[in-house]
Amino acid sequence: MSGPRAVGIDVGGTRIKAVLMTGSGDVLEATVRPTPARPGPELGTIAGELRAELEAATGHSADALAVVVPGLFEDRAGIARWSANLGWRDLALTELLAGSLDIPVASGHDVRAGLLAEHRFGAAREVDDVLFLPLGTGIASAHMTGGVVTAGSPWTGEVGHVVIRPDGRECGCGARGCLEAEASAAALGRIWSEVEGEPRDAEDLAVAVRAGDDRAKGVWSEAVDALALVLSPAVAAAGTRLVLLGGGLALAGDLLADPLHRALSARLPGRSELSVRVAELGDRAGALGAACLALDLLTEVES
Ligand SMILES: [Zn+2]
Repeated sequence: MSGPRAVGIDVGGTRIKAVLMTGSGDVLEATVRPTPARPGPELGTIAGELRAELEAATGHSADALAVVVPGLFEDRAGIARWSANLGWRDLALTELLAGSLDIPVASGHDVRAGLLAEHRFGAAREVDDVLFLPLGTGIASAHMTGGVVTAGSPWTGEVGHVVIRPDGRECGCGARGCLEAEASAAALGRIWSEVEGEPRDAEDLAVAVRAGDDRAKGVWSEAVDALALVLSPAVAAAGTRLVLLGGGLALAGDLLADPLHRALSARLPGRSELSVRVAELGDRAGALGAACLALDLLTEVES
């Protein structure tokens, strides 16, 4: 097989996903393993093991490798500044990988990598101005303007901790009423559990909304309003044409995308070209995006 191949690795809170991908986006092999507790410095060894596993399974060698991680990440320096879940601070990830592997390496942010993959192979293929919003345990975002993923300070895209209700629910960050505490999949599960008086998750809430339950519809529309409140100025500032929803809550599909589109349109008069869509690559987007980062490295080396 000709052409370059790269390994992309996505380190999540509970699972590490890895793929061996060709330059045209074909996944030759994929693998998953549990994330060890506080994996920081171990990531170099883990990346080497995953590369060896993927190469052995396919009989093809990798020409480059990249690892993407959640939390605050500084793209230019390749430093993972902070992750609450994974327990690191100022982890020099690219340097760490370069010390463990003999091929070109890169590192990046999981959500920005996911957007890159959605733009190349998924639901954002034909759009160059995109806001990608995975709604899961937390809420993060990534922005693409003019076909380029924005990556400035480690705080780029951190919309989850915009306070929308100062007297609202307690957030993991210590503040009250953050978007993440009011409208993430985890938050909606908690809110719906309170209403129902027994443990429920966001999926149960979506089922109740579809069944026409008025209490569920109320919770849902409050969440949609909260999202529109935070997203509309971001969309206006960046000239976004597509809001791409990912994460667990996006499984609700049109039940979420349609009212969010209406709420955004109401706040952004005249923006008839704005659309809201659900991402296509699911929980593999991060690993595919990491492979894209690695392949781009080879193009940079050549040019
Ligand atoms: Zn917060």
